Amino acid sequence: AFEVLVVGGGPAGAAAAIYAARKGISTGVIAERFGGQVLDTMAIENFISVNHTEGPKLGAALENHVREYDVDIMNLQRADKLIPAANPGGLIEVRLASGASVKARTVILATGARWRSMNVPGESEYRNKGVAYCPHCDGPLFKGKRVAVIGGGNSGVEAAIDLAGIVASVTLIEFDSQLRADAVLQAKLRSLANVTVITSALSTEVHGDGVKVVGLSYKDRNSEEMHRIDLEGIFVQIGLVPNTEWLKGSIALSPRGEIEVDARGQTSLPGVFAAGDVTTVPYKQIIIAMGEGAKAGLSAFDHLIRTPVA
Ligand code: FAD
Repeated sequence: AFEVLVVGGGPAGAAAAIYAARKGISTGVIAERFGGQVLDTMAIENFISVNHTEGPKLGAALENHVREYDVDIMNLQRADKLIPAANPGGLIEVRLASGASVKARTVILATGARWRSMNVPGESEYRNKGVAYCPHCDGPLFKGKRVAVIGGGNSGVEAAIDLAGIVASVTLIEFDSQLRADAVLQAKLRSLANVTVITSALSTEVHGDGVKVVGLSYKDRNSEEMHRIDLEGIFVQIGLVPNTEWLKGSIALSPRGEIEVDARGQTSLPGVFAAGDVTTVPYKQIIIAMGEGAKAGLSAFDHLIRTPVA
């Protein structure tokens, strides 16, 4: 059994594993895909002290750094059940989809999240070529350009407000007949001169020129008429889904399915910590996931030195 078992090999999991291993305790990492969401990213310009890098490069660097230490990496393995220790200080079990089972005195959950996509033609083809999901990450790449934001919930309206200060114009497209964001955000949005709001609209296709995005089609759900907007960027803001389906019923989750953690990354289960995009901690970013992962690694160590072995 491991002293620390990390589930997830993204920025949060990598940081947790390195912090644990540096305490000289036996550390394992189970990851479906080492590198996580970073692998799907092109330009990264907000990883402080690194002016510019690319996802695949940072993903490889994460794995390299973890491999500097005596960490047992179980890559291409999916965890599908968490079984709490039978008694305090006992072993926690993580069952894998392969049927195998891994035990540990502490577990750090860092399974991240995934952006919900529109599932329309052109979206995946032009991902990172105009189709974006993270305004904090990619907003500045569209300086002076025309963009659309898909989704009129809090994240869509926040994104539109944020982008309006950077880009030439923002068209916010909402499926419903009204926006669902908080009233104060809607008021702020409507005060901005370069934002147009279109409701009752279903996005139907992302258009590109073979290299990058050039437009977006949507259907007016009242008139059934099709419209096309010329633009350079599309920010899809219809939800970030935490990868916690496998944890339902075993640990406290927020109504949005995020793992509830305290300031030390402690979850509702003793000896189980969590970090990164999978938790209730706001602002889903690489640098934040790494900081939270480091914190969870230190919290797991702290738990181990205070808990007698069962
Ligand atoms: P993730 O990166 O999601 O990693 C989760 C890990 O858990 C993966 O290894 C995954 O395979 C594994 N996993 C999931 N479920 C299981 C399971 N059941 N069993 C085993 N393993 C599992 N942030 C920035 O700061 N700057 C940017 O420029 C930026 N650009 C982005 C661009 C795109 C297109 C996307 C999608 C995200 C971007 N982000 C950016 C956000 C950033 O990638 C995330 O905040 C960060 O990766 C979160 O790290 P994490 O370790 O919490 O989760």
